[in-house]
Amino acid sequence: MKRKNICFSLFVLGLIATVTALLVWGVYSRLSRPPITQTLDPDRPMVALTFDDGPSPRYTPQILDILYQTQTPATFFLVGERMEGGRLLIREMKTVGHQVECHTYSHQNLSALTGEEIRQEVALAQEELEKILPGHKFRYLRPPYGSYTQKVEQEAGITLAMWTVDSRDSEPGQEDKIYSNVVDHIKDGDVVVLHDCPETARVLESIILTLKEKGYQLVTLDQLAARLTQEEKEALIIPSTWKGKS
Ligand SMILES: [Zn+2]
Repeated sequence: MKRKNICFSLFVLGLIATVTALLVWGVYSRLSRPPITQTLDPDRPMVALTFDDGPSPRYTPQILDILYQTQTPATFFLVGERMEGGRLLIREMKTVGHQVECHTYSHQNLSALTGEEIRQEVALAQEELEKILPGHKFRYLRPPYGSYTQKVEQEAGITLAMWTVDSRDSEPGQEDKIYSNVVDHIKDGDVVVLHDCPETARVLESIILTLKEKGYQLVTLDQLAARLTQEEKEALIIPSTWKGKS
């Protein structure tokens, strides 16, 4: 009986050691990924994939894997109060060349908040980010639910960034629709809004492969903005704040 107990204890210890080793190896292999490489042709069409509401411990790793396997840089609009649980994922985003931007601290409807509360939503998210990526400043804010007013625009203190193609990926079990909402409506200069959610994790690879087959180059918001005309920028970024920066 005693010997049985010892054997069982050794088995459990071995199991814990194996799982720990696998976790450490998994984290190391993700963080040691070299940056995504791509050569952009300014004469070929470009679109930006953007992911809101992360990091999600379950779905962001799946999305990051697909983006990495297809060598696709993207832009993540992160929620401040979710950052602590996704520190390694955020470091990985930065390491491989994704753009990291702000989606407020607690994902509230900014249009319903006071000026002080709006400023807090941005400042607290920025604080969380700097604990993980010291010195990294958000340059864009995507307001939750796409909801903003002139007050939001003034109080936020950074450029609001919207989208031109809505994947509508918050509807459960609608992968076919999400796919067609994106690939059937895409055009040069579009910004696609997606989320770190199970539906997107399942359909993302098909979307990326189809867009690439159609000849689109997939880029970050910064890379896209760098080649848009002023009119095109205004279609996806709040005009008055953008004008102040260009
Ligand atoms: Zn959101």
